[in-house]
Order: sequence, then C-alpha cells, then structure tokens
Amino acid sequence: MQIPSGSPDAVACMTGSRGAPRLHGTVKFYTMAKGVLVVARIWGLPTSETDIFALHIHEGAGCTGAEFSDTGGHFNPGAQPHPRHAGDLPPLFSCGGRAFLAVLTDRFRVRDIIGRTVVIHSSPDDFRTQPAGGAGEKIACGTVRAQESGKTCKKYCGEPGGVL
Ligand SMILES: [Zn+2]
Repeated sequence: MQIPSGSPDAVACMTGSRGAPRLHGTVKFYTMAKGVLVVARIWGLPTSETDIFALHIHEGAGCTGAEFSDTGGHFNPGAQPHPRHAGDLPPLFSCGGRAFLAVLTDRFRVRDIIGRTVVIHSSPDDFRTQPAGGAGEKIACGTVRAQESGKTCKKYCGEPGGVL
C-alpha cells in the first residue's frame, strides 16, 4: 500500500497546548478500498520518560476548554471498551521530537469523523486502562476538516517543520 499522492479526504492541523507550544503537524485521512488510511506527521514533541505518545480521535468538536477538555472522550459510536473504540489508534514514537505514523483502520469512515478532534497525549496508551488507556494529559489537538478539492493542506495549516 502506498500513501496517495493526491489530497487527503480530510485533515486535522495539530496545535500544541500551552505546555507544548512547539508541538504541531498534520493528521491526514484517505479513503482506501479496505478502510481509512491515517497518516500523521508531527514535529516538536516534548521529551518524556518513554518518548511514546498516545494518539486518539475524540468525540468532541473543538480544541477548546482547559487542556482541550471540550474534546471529551474517545470517539466511540459502538459503545465499546477501550481499546476497541473506533477512535483508538497506535501511539506516536518520537524520533528526536518528530513522529511519522501511517495506519489502516476500518473502524470508521472519513465522513464519520468530520468535525471531531484528534488528540495527542503526554503518555503512552497502555491499551488496558478504562476509559482512555491511562494516556495522561492532552498535549495537542486538531479538528478534523473535510479537504475541499483544489486546496492543499498547506493552505489550512502549513507544515513549517519541513519534510518528514
Ligand atoms: Zn479508546
């Protein structure tokens, strides 16, 4: 499988919290024949004990509230326990503050997550603790927006960290 060269169907432009101001990047969503391809490119991750950071799609629509509290819980239309939530994703592994992740999932369609939020957490996901994997604070957030034809992701949020 290859990452499509064209525009994604949706994109979330990630912005760090007050405590992680350098954190930024994109999470792009491509509809594929067998599911949705999620491609994350992230810069400015802080150092931590593990340098592993949980990544989830949350049900809330806005990156507002104290520590992005308006993002709410994990996107979970099927009322499943963690880590069977539709919005559960593999964690980011920091490589000197950068991270790249591509994963195929059939837990949602792109149209299901438009207007919801992507959140990066301060800790790894243990894939066990309820309701959110013990992933710690919300350190970055982006609202998932449909990609309008003809507009590049750069027009939405830029990718100032350079090519990853
Ligand atoms: Zn979950």
